[in-house]
Amino acid sequence: MGVKRINHDVWVNRKLFVVQDVPAEVCERCGETVFTPQITERILSTLRRSDSPKKTLKVPVLRLRPAV
Ligand SMILES: [Zn+2]
Repeated sequence: MGVKRINHDVWVNRKLFVVQDVPAEVCERCGETVFTPQITERILSTLRRSDSPKKTLKVPVLRLRPAV
């Protein structure tokens, strides 16, 4: 497990948020990310003040293609 800074994407009340530069333990085998309790608290605190985002992204939304 190494600590890396990642972009953490999270849905809150049907809205998608991206929190940038979050320190996370990243598993080198499967890529799974784990946050310390302190970082989790900082993410929650950041989301509680989400009314003035740094920037807003346009995200493509796709419909799953039918089976062929
Ligand atoms: Zn793993």
